[in-house]
Amino acid sequence: STFSLKVAAIEGEAFQGVLITFEDVSPLEDVGQMRRDFVANVSHELRTPLTALLGFIETLRGPAKDDARARDRFLGIMQTEASRMNRLVRDLLSLSRVESEERIRPGQQLDLLGTVQSTVKALEPIAEDKGISVNLTAPNGEVMVNGDCDQLNQVFTNLIENAIKYGGNGGDVSVTVTVLDRDPTVRGPAVRVEVTDQGQGIDPIHIPRLTERFYRVDSHRSREMGGTGLGLAIVKHIINRHRGRIQISSALGEGSTFTVTLPRL
Ligand code: ADP
Repeated sequence: STFSLKVAAIEGEAFQGVLITFEDVSPLEDVGQMRRDFVANVSHELRTPLTALLGFIETLRGPAKDDARARDRFLGIMQTEASRMNRLVRDLLSLSRVESEERIRPGQQLDLLGTVQSTVKALEPIAEDKGISVNLTAPNGEVMVNGDCDQLNQVFTNLIENAIKYGGNGGDVSVTVTVLDRDPTVRGPAVRVEVTDQGQGIDPIHIPRLTERFYRVDSHRSREMGGTGLGLAIVKHIINRHRGRIQISSALGEGSTFTVTLPRL
């Protein structure tokens, strides 16, 4: 713990004294430390592709100037690195936007089922490329919630994309929507969306930290898959804004389930 000690002299007409305040400022220190860690992480994540880009530019202007095959190959790598930076900046902007809106209640009334359906549809081609399918199980009709359509879309996009990415080959992804009369975690009528994959699963020791910014179980694998390490942090903030909950359960070698519970109207 860190304490702040302040001493002030008090000179009143009838009274003279010293005021000593002793304040525990550890929580503020933690916030300061988190901010410094975040800046260090962002700098590192940006510097890696940037260093690669600068290196290849130098090679293309020098030793590889007249080598058409090398040029093609290097330009390909440069494009990959630039795309990585692009995704990182896009996710940083998203994160900053959702953080600043976290305290504003979302005002739109929308059909969550429609949002989930269109997200699944949009991701079908990516799943097909990996030879798997995304199976949606949902009730008939509409499930109305108070929400922000784009943000909820982002939540399910991130979760389903992860399930496809880390889901292993051949294992299908299932998305199940359930309407609940009452759910204790949101204290009222709720809707639950479960995204399940049959991938490698997550060691339980990592689960509590998965929604932290830049936390990855396997950084190398995440980067290779085009991940920024910010997806679940964004998801967490959006769900907080919607007064919902996210639960993660997983068994190594069997797969994972990400469950989002949101209050419904
Ligand atoms: P990333 O961009 O690295 O995918 P996320 O914030 O979306 O970042 O996820 C953080 C980490 O959580 C990932 O790097 C991965 O290790 C783990 N993870 C997320 N979803 C799954 C999943 N469905 N199966 C296994 N691991 C997962």
